[in-house]
Amino acid sequence: MRIVEVRERAIPLQANIKNSVVNFAEHTVSLVALVSDVVRDGKPVVGLAFDSIGRFDQSGILRSRFIPRLQAAEPASLLTEDGTLFSPEKVLATIMRNEKPGGHGDRAHAAAAIELAVWDLNAKLLGIPAWQLIARHFGVQPVDAMPVYAAGGYYYPEDNLGRLQDEMRQYQDLGYVRFKMKIGGAPLKEDVARIEAALKVVGDPRHLAVDANGRFDTSTAIAYGRAMQDFGLRWYEEPGNPLDYALMSELGAVYPHRLATGENLFSVADVENLVRFGGMREGLDYFQMDPGLSYGITEFARMVAVMEKHGYSRKEVHPHGGHMLALHIVVGLGLGGSEAYPGVFSPFGGYTPGCRVVGGTVSPTQAPGFGLEEKPDLMPHIADLLGR
Ligand code: MG
Repeated sequence: MRIVEVRERAIPLQANIKNSVVNFAEHTVSLVALVSDVVRDGKPVVGLAFDSIGRFDQSGILRSRFIPRLQAAEPASLLTEDGTLFSPEKVLATIMRNEKPGGHGDRAHAAAAIELAVWDLNAKLLGIPAWQLIARHFGVQPVDAMPVYAAGGYYYPEDNLGRLQDEMRQYQDLGYVRFKMKIGGAPLKEDVARIEAALKVVGDPRHLAVDANGRFDTSTAIAYGRAMQDFGLRWYEEPGNPLDYALMSELGAVYPHRLATGENLFSVADVENLVRFGGMREGLDYFQMDPGLSYGITEFARMVAVMEKHGYSRKEVHPHGGHMLALHIVVGLGLGGSEAYPGVFSPFGGYTPGCRVVGGTVSPTQAPGFGLEEKPDLMPHIADLLGR
């Protein structure tokens, strides 16, 4: 059994929206296919994945380094001990050969696209959904319905508050009961008015989180914390630079409610530093690392192990993502909850039509692998990539 071909294509995100730092109109994502020599129903079994959302395609690193290393490897060296499946750990070690430790940037996203495609391929070889394979591999008892929240709450050029409220109502109509909105893209007073406007629709402040996308310095982060603390919001996300652990620690000492961070930490070492120096409060604060940005499930599971070693629970992990890969991983690893991007970041964001969102929970389907072939907006790109 071997991988006979690796294909990659950079696909633009359909998203003319922005947070406090980034406009997504120019963003792209790498869709990757691992074509195996196993043939079912006249077609090769293919592993599909992508490099999550929000960090651009990884065509350069994939084509110049990772895909050539994978293709040069002895086929048997990429298989599990019993030779029945591909080994995600061995594939990751193979593509990371000759890479220095540290400096986890785009390389981590490129590696994730390939590593996750191995999980999709293995699940399809077994004819089971990826969440089931992940749960089996890590000895987790998966839940039927995973808590989910709708991430959005963007800034609008006109009728800012009215359109923000309309957006929250649309999510409610889709079955969501928990929400997240952007802050930090306007002056503090204006952001407080936006939170008040959103709460008029959401109701319970424990169902509304806010995300500053790493925008603030320590004093601004604390000023926002003071201004927001009487709301008692669900969480206050990425207040400052993702690697500013001192800021997290100082803010956590004065802000009484939940903080969340981690979507821009791409390695075990970064998470180890967060738990050592970030002042993350056990049983309160949330971790949001994204396996699709951080070398895939192999490295992500090691991150969770580091957290657990330091006394945190995997239920405190709510990964960044909002797409099918993240949903399967959240369910398969028994994490705390899933993010969703209803109606944005197409063709990668959001779930397939078969994934029901009911009363603030979501359930993946029984489609083999990550079920990407069931996503109507992604399917034309998959067919194009595979030349079908
Ligand atoms: Mg965020």
